[in-house]
Amino acid sequence: MRIDIITVLPELLESPLNFSIVKRARDKGLVEINVINLRDFTSDKYKTVDDYAFGGGAGMVMMIEPVFKAIEKLKSEREYDEIIYTSPDGERFTQRMANMLSLKNNIIILAGHYKGVDQRIREHLITREISIGDYVLSGGEIPAAAITDAIVRLIPGAISDEQSALSDSFQDDLLAPPVYTRPADFNGWKVPDILLSGHTAEIDKWRHEQSLERTHKLRPDLSKDE
Ligand code: SAM
Repeated sequence: MRIDIITVLPELLESPLNFSIVKRARDKGLVEINVINLRDFTSDKYKTVDDYAFGGGAGMVMMIEPVFKAIEKLKSEREYDEIIYTSPDGERFTQRMANMLSLKNNIIILAGHYKGVDQRIREHLITREISIGDYVLSGGEIPAAAITDAIVRLIPGAISDEQSALSDSFQDDLLAPPVYTRPADFNGWKVPDILLSGHTAEIDKWRHEQSLERTHKLRPDLSKDE
């Protein structure tokens, strides 16, 4: 799989995509992630990527030309399954969407900035708009990193014990059960006896019950999803 992220702030993406599971997946060749500097597709000496909004008002707007050139160059090299724009008014990102995107071959993610991108980019170049939540961040880099991380950990082989990703929250629309590690008793705060029993089937049953209980209590909306 290949993920190309177009941004005006490539430095912001360096750290989140170079540690832990994402780094290991890159090192193993399971995913190729490229961070593309939008300023490389500008034509003036100041490498301008934004301009004033037509009609006035506060805030700059990301210009269409550099974004068009960057996307055209990438598209001339390979076919893309999705060209995503991160936007607070996009479709809400979910584990289900991460699962679906992890099955794709090539994805572009465009990180917005300023007041957003020229609307014609969204109308003519973008195939999917994704929001990571109902709040506004300064730029699309953190959303792009969040989306990339959620996708990459689902690629087979990215996590050594594949079951571990499958038993995470939101897979099967359930929250994960609680987890514990040593010591079994810390200042009188004890680990549930069942987890120390060694009865695998009973432990699995307990974990499933805990998942159902926690989902019912904390996120009843999950079972109502389409
Ligand atoms: N004026 C825009 C609005 O009200 O919808 C917000 C622009 S925001 C300051 C700059 C950029 O950050 C956006 O273009 C988008 O790419 C990104 N962004 C901010 N919040 C986001 C969110 N919750 N999900 C996805 N992207 C977000």
